[in-house]
Formats: sequence, structure tokens, C-alpha cells
Amino acid sequence: MIYISKPDIGKDEINSVVEVLKSGMIASGPKVKELEATFAKYCNTKYAVAFNSGTAAIHAGLYALDIKENDEVITSPFTFIASASPVFMQKAKVVFADISEIDFNLDPESVKKYITRKTKAIIPIDLYGQIYNYKEISKIAKQNNLYILEDACQSVGATQNKKKPGTFGNVAAFSLYATKNMTSGEGGLITTNSLRIMQKCKMLRHHGQKENAQYKYYDIGYNYRLTDIGAAIALAQLKKLDDINKKRIANAETLNGGLRNTRGIVTPIVNPGNKHVYHQYTIRITKECKVTRDKLMQSLREKGVGCNIYYPKPLHLHPVFTKLGYKKGDFPVAERISREVLSLPVHPLLKTKDVKFIIDSIHEILDEK
Ligand SMILES: *Cc1c(COP(=O)(O)O)cnc(C)c1O
Repeated sequence: MIYISKPDIGKDEINSVVEVLKSGMIASGPKVKELEATFAKYCNTKYAVAFNSGTAAIHAGLYALDIKENDEVITSPFTFIASASPVFMQKAKVVFADISEIDFNLDPESVKKYITRKTKAIIPIDLYGQIYNYKEISKIAKQNNLYILEDACQSVGATQNKKKPGTFGNVAAFSLYATKNMTSGEGGLITTNSLRIMQKCKMLRHHGQKENAQYKYYDIGYNYRLTDIGAAIALAQLKKLDDINKKRIANAETLNGGLRNTRGIVTPIVNPGNKHVYHQYTIRITKECKVTRDKLMQSLREKGVGCNIYYPKPLHLHPVFTKLGYKKGDFPVAERISREVLSLPVHPLLKTKDVKFIIDSIHEILDEK
């Protein structure tokens, strides 16, 4: 069985965790601080703050941008729920805009239509590991006085014109979940160049307390702290992140070569200036294909190729949003794309023969028709 994802855990991760366990400090301590300093340096931002999930990181980012009741935040319906749910945590309103079929992310023309006097922020998503094309949206944000929170949960290590997430908008959020390009099991981080945003993120993480002022509660807060155990894993992962991503890119290029000229299959499109780090390698199966997307997925699984759909149903069609009035037909591109996408294994532990097997299996399935 070729799995759709597999964490790359080696001696370094294991030894650093053992070291932390023996140290006596297993909660949030020096390893978390070291991770924050190292990660900020890696992203070329002034600050990084660590959390116990990517969801917590997004929530803290929104809190730091002062998103509150009656505010509106625009995001994509074609993403994981955690891009949108933290907006609810701040009692604000989630407003969707449609996506482009090129990079499966927010279409700036559609975003413009949904801006009102209540709009405070936009959350573009670096879907599948490619940084969102910020050129247009940055202009729109500037003209309308809007904040940008980058959902970079899938794009750690990716660049756009050599820049990393956290430098395009006001704050970027990352996830360290087990399937992500870099992991601590569960965990998250924000990056920012703003001192105020960094401080507010730390406050929300630690019960509304300011750093170095314990038992003074300035605001509502949570326990969103990462442990030193998790930070130790993340630090070991960060050291090899560029190598991990290199392997993902090489696997993606092999898949591109093997699938590019296949009728009805559209391989991933990389926008100019982007280094795509392939959190997912996602193809589109169009009407011209000999088999349906679902049939291809089923047959691939029968051959032992783990593949999956990210995401089978756009967010606005789930009960949590339909009860707010969203309905079928609201975002036609997102709805069509969710019927066409299929993600194939691309993770760094794949062997050359595995990648070849994936390509051969797809051609076999199509040739049988
Ligand atoms: C993984 C992910 C998140 C949430 O991260 P968790 O660490 O699972 O809380 C948010 N947005 C996107 C796009 C993600 O892929």
C-alpha cells in the first residue's frame, strides 16, 4: 500500500524528544522559544509564535487583528474548515468568495464583489503548498483598508519571488499537524513583522496574560501553548524541511512528466515566481477523461495507491454554513473543482518505483476503458 501521506521521523526527532523528556521541562519552555527564534529566521520575519495547533494559530492571528463581532472576513469555500471556523470563534461573519480554477484559490474579481463596509480582513489560502498570488489581493486590501491573514498551513517552506509566508499580509498561520510538510504531531505557528500582533498572539495563547506578567489577565485567553516535546520534534523537522520539500518537488515533477499529456487529466499549475512545495499533488479529472474521478480513485485504491479528495464538498454546502443561508450554485467554480480534484501520494518517503507505479496504474486504468 502506498499511503497518501507519511511523516518523515528519524533519529534526530527521537533523540531530541528523549532529551526533552529527561530534562524535566516537558511543557512550554526553552525548546518552544528556540523554535520561535529559528522559525522566524527561516521565514525572514521579525517574529514567530508557536501554538498547539494551526487552528489556534489562525484564531490568534484574527484576535491580533482585532476581528470581532459584526466584522466580516472573506475567505475561500474550497479549503479545510479551520481556515474559516476561527472567524466564528471571534464572533465575526464568514463571507465566501469564489475561486479560480488555475490555483484553486480566491479569485480577486470575486472577492471585490463581497467587500462591504463591515469587511475587515481577507484570508487567502496557500492551497496544496503553493503561495497564493498576492499581487491583486494586496492592491484590493490596500484600497479598502483590509487586513490580510495568510493561511499558510499547507505551504511551509514555499516561496513567492523568494519571499516566505508572513511577509505578504499582516500575519501568516502555519500548521504542524502530522500530515503537513513539517510536523510536531499537533502544533502551529504564526509569523509576522508586527510587534503588536506578536504580543497579542502570545496573550491569547496564555490566558490573556502579557509575557513576563503572570497572573494579570488583560483579556479572555486560552491555553494554546505548544509543549517542548512538540517543539523538539519541529526543530528537528525544520532542519531537514528544505530537503523534505525538495523530495516532494522531485516526486511532483516525475508525476507531471508521466501524466501531463493524458486526455482529461490536468496536472498542477505553478504560478510564475512560485516555489510550490506540494503539500498535496492534486490533479483535475475533467469531462474528457475516459473514467470519472470517483472511478479513478476507487481503481487506484484497489491497486494499492492511497489517494484522496481535498475537498469533496466546498465549505458553503456543509450544514454549519447552509444554516446561514449559503446554498448550491453560490460558488460555481468551487463546486465544479470539488468534483474534479484528486490528490495523489507525493510525500518524501516515496521510492522512485512507487512514483512510477502510481503513473503506470493510472495509465492502466485508463487503457482498460
Ligand atoms: C491543516 C490546516 C489547518 C489547521 O491546522 P491544524 O493544525 O490541523 O489545526 C488550517 N487550514 C488549512 C488550509 C490546513 O490545511
